[in-house]
Amino acid sequence: MGNMISIAKTIVESSELSTTYATNGDISLNAASQVKLRSTEKIIYDQYKAPATKEKELKKFLVHFRRPADYKGEYGFDWLRDEYIYAINYIERDNNNQPCNSTMPLVSDVAAAKKEYLKDVKSPVKPYGVDYYPAWLSLFPYTSSQQFKYGSSMNKDGARLDLELEEIEEVISDGTEIIFESKNPNLKITPQKVNIAALMGSGQQTRFRPGGVKVKYYTLKGAVTVVNANAPLQQHEEIKVFAKLGNKKEEVGKLMVYNNHVIPKMELILVKVGTQANSLPAIDQQLVKDIEYQFKRGSYNQALIRAEIKTDTIFETGVLPLTDHDVTSYWNNVLGGAASFNEQQFLEEVIKLYEKYGQHKPNGGRINADANKRTYIFLTDLPAGFNGIAAAANGDVIKEFVWGNAFVVFLKGLNQRRTLLHEAGHSLGLQHTFSAGQPTAGLKPPPYTFYQGHTDNIMDYTWQTNGNLNPYNAKDNMRSFFKFQWDIMRQDRSLILNY
Ligand SMILES: [Zn+2]
Repeated sequence: MGNMISIAKTIVESSELSTTYATNGDISLNAASQVKLRSTEKIIYDQYKAPATKEKELKKFLVHFRRPADYKGEYGFDWLRDEYIYAINYIERDNNNQPCNSTMPLVSDVAAAKKEYLKDVKSPVKPYGVDYYPAWLSLFPYTSSQQFKYGSSMNKDGARLDLELEEIEEVISDGTEIIFESKNPNLKITPQKVNIAALMGSGQQTRFRPGGVKVKYYTLKGAVTVVNANAPLQQHEEIKVFAKLGNKKEEVGKLMVYNNHVIPKMELILVKVGTQANSLPAIDQQLVKDIEYQFKRGSYNQALIRAEIKTDTIFETGVLPLTDHDVTSYWNNVLGGAASFNEQQFLEEVIKLYEKYGQHKPNGGRINADANKRTYIFLTDLPAGFNGIAAAANGDVIKEFVWGNAFVVFLKGLNQRRTLLHEAGHSLGLQHTFSAGQPTAGLKPPPYTFYQGHTDNIMDYTWQTNGNLNPYNAKDNMRSFFKFQWDIMRQDRSLILNY
């Protein structure tokens, strides 16, 4: 309470808020409100005592790390987004194309999603009893080759992240400091503290959760930079966040940083498949560079996998001997025309032929054998058969076929960054974000599934089951791999650990 005065006998207190009838005896009135005393009774001041200066209360809030809006996949960043677990997005049709027509969480199993985002968290926190799910960051260590052979300058400048302050109660600019602590000297965050005034200066925003719940928050863009230099992280590390006012200090957030002492390599072989005896033009070198850049710095780096296009080559099937049954079988399929063309068969036959005649075939082995450490991307100008042609009419659909360590990209996919990255994701063991698992593929099912076409994940589709476009695709923003996918891909048999 504020200043108080003691009065005796019966009076009426009228303030803006209420009218209080007081009887004989002392009553406390808040002098800060507009009090009018209608009684002629004397106010007795002699019992008034100024309260001791109270320590300022630390206001309750959470702090989250967030990815900046102009993120292009240059490091890994993942977090449990509100729409995954709260009914925020309107879902018209489910993944089986059955009508939903309701607002629902984007994941099938909210409890599984929450559990997944707490997996590997070093020391989970529950500030003020509120569930807290730290964001995950993955960075290449910036090291000299003496310090660490597999380091890179890729994330030399680190990741510049936004900070979000989520109110539990209304905050005020009271000098509270938000302090970051990293125990690992090779993992640095700058600045090491931010005044609450800086966050509040960004202006309060509101978002909604079901049941009319308003979440009030502030976002300071580019507030902190996180760098890992001099040595890799041997284990997942954490950056703790504290709120501090006077001698009050509370842990109010956390950033998890993925360990990076193992950097697997993914070797890609780009093979342009020709279907005429005429000599094929080599693959445009700018295209090769662009593809490599996207693999290396816009996608697989998120899983701390170093992607490299080992070679690009052409494979002219028009010159292969027709005495070979595999060659004639292949031609029967290719020349069969759109109505009978079988894309899966095409992939399998191309693999078979490449294993016999290809210039960069795996040494003594099969492309789909465990010993093969290369991923083969077959590019063809052929349209993807009947379905592909039908799909081509609406512009952006590509038939996709993945088989172990190889995949084929048909006509429409050749110029689509996302398609190449997406297919390579399958070959590293990832399923679609909306797939509950394909047992025939022998892949581990994802921990939960999303509704198709609602996320920015590379393994999502660019359209929803109702035919609407994925909103992230419209902004060319489907650039994410999620943390559970980093875990899966890093285990793939085709990756090279010693190089
Ligand atoms: Zn796919």
